[in-house]
Amino acid sequence: MSFAKSETTKRKEIEELARHWGELLAREVYPQGPGLDVSLADMEEMVACATRAIVRGAIGQMTEDQAQLLDEEHACPTCGKACPVRRKSRAVAVRGGSAELDEPMAHCSKCRRDLFPSA
Ligand SMILES: [Zn+2]
Repeated sequence: MSFAKSETTKRKEIEELARHWGELLAREVYPQGPGLDVSLADMEEMVACATRAIVRGAIGQMTEDQAQLLDEEHACPTCGKACPVRRKSRAVAVRGGSAELDEPMAHCSKCRRDLFPSA
């Protein structure tokens, strides 16, 4: 399913949902509300930490969902040999933080090259 179909509407829904998560986060961090000794920088640091965690979770889940669409074997573009697809974990920098990707990859033993099938 394409995100572009009703992108503006979907984006507004996601922003509203995330704003609500922010309110929940505020209540989780400061159940009684922040005291007067809590600075804006303290609040910002907690929110930035949560934002990075959301990025890691969301990107990890979406790329995992894409990987499920791939076949268990990938044909080598050079020789055509069917090569088993494995997963290799690696950290990548994304906007708003970093994410750990379980990247699908295959290796053609005949051509001695790594293949990176993508959805
Ligand atoms: Zn090959």
